[in-house]
Amino acid sequence: MRYATREGLLAWLDRLASEADLIAPRDVDGHVLYRPVRSGAEVLLEYERPELSAKEFLFPPTEVILRVEQRGKDVALEEVLPDHRQVIFGLRPCDAHGLAAIDALFIHQDPPDAYYRHHRERTTLVGMACTRMWDGCFCTSMGGGPADPTHLDVLVRPAEDGIYILQPVTPKGVAILESLPLAEVRGEPCPVEEYSPPVPVMPPEKWRTLFEESRLWMRHGERCLSCRICTYVCPTCRCYDVVDRVVDVRPGWVRTERIRVWDACTSPNYRRVAGGHNPRPTNWERLRNRFMCKFCYYPEDFGPLGCVGCGRCIVACPVEIDITEVMEDVARV
Ligand code: SF4
Ligand code: SF4
Repeated sequence: MRYATREGLLAWLDRLASEADLIAPRDVDGHVLYRPVRSGAEVLLEYERPELSAKEFLFPPTEVILRVEQRGKDVALEEVLPDHRQVIFGLRPCDAHGLAAIDALFIHQDPPDAYYRHHRERTTLVGMACTRMWDGCFCTSMGGGPADPTHLDVLVRPAEDGIYILQPVTPKGVAILESLPLAEVRGEPCPVEEYSPPVPVMPPEKWRTLFEESRLWMRHGERCLSCRICTYVCPTCRCYDVVDRVVDVRPGWVRTERIRVWDACTSPNYRRVAGGHNPRPTNWERLRNRFMCKFCYYPEDFGPLGCVGCGRCIVACPVEIDITEVMEDVARV
């Protein structure tokens, strides 16, 4: 365990920013977001759960994955992977839990996803424990917790009198803490102020038996606008599409970029096939798939649940569709 004063922590962040790409919670026009920072002075140390998860720094919303140059019959492919180190500071434990859920598909399957794995390997996760449960949050029902170090490299816990306790969790975490200015101070971690009531988590078999219960899905899903916000804010959603974009054309020469872009199963286009057939033509069928994926298909196929209880989709949904109400209904049926 290491201890740091606020000044020591900020000086350490200055140093990290000079050595690597530093991502941290920042105030962006009144919104708390994980964003690149150039120094500790830009970093929020007291902040709510950021409005978006940090998955975009390992699985970007739009990512060039290949450059293709064609001259006559010759085709040259160039793989695009950034080579610098990245540190995400202030990651909430639920967001690290979300990355562990994505790892189950992108890293622990054969073959792994080369792009995601590359970003994961170049990234160190320095988490910040929550001192209270945020609006909509139910992480304690999903196997996590406000001070859960499990999926982090380092966990930072605020303590009394402006002291911070830094707990290395992995060898990467031990290494990054070597440059932290040591402080001759000690402190007890601030207690977590309140816990949300438990939400029932039913096993995949229960969800599967309810697939045909259209009244249940319509009750929650009929008012869905297919806006896809719930997917984009979610730390575990990882569906994507791949598109090719021509960036330059000259006589006998074409340059193209292959781009990976986020996709969302709540989008009407998601399952539409050639010829126009859509096996999920209604908003409630698409929303049913979102919930079935999180609690039935993903755990059956890859292990972890597809929800870590961050509560973001509850707060962000413009028509107040609440995943915990769906979970409670599933437990009741
Ligand atoms: S489904 Fe909702 S509550 Fe669960 S992890 Fe995703 S955004 Fe958070
Ligand atoms: S945020 Fe709400 S309205 Fe938008 S797609 Fe998700 S469930 Fe539907």
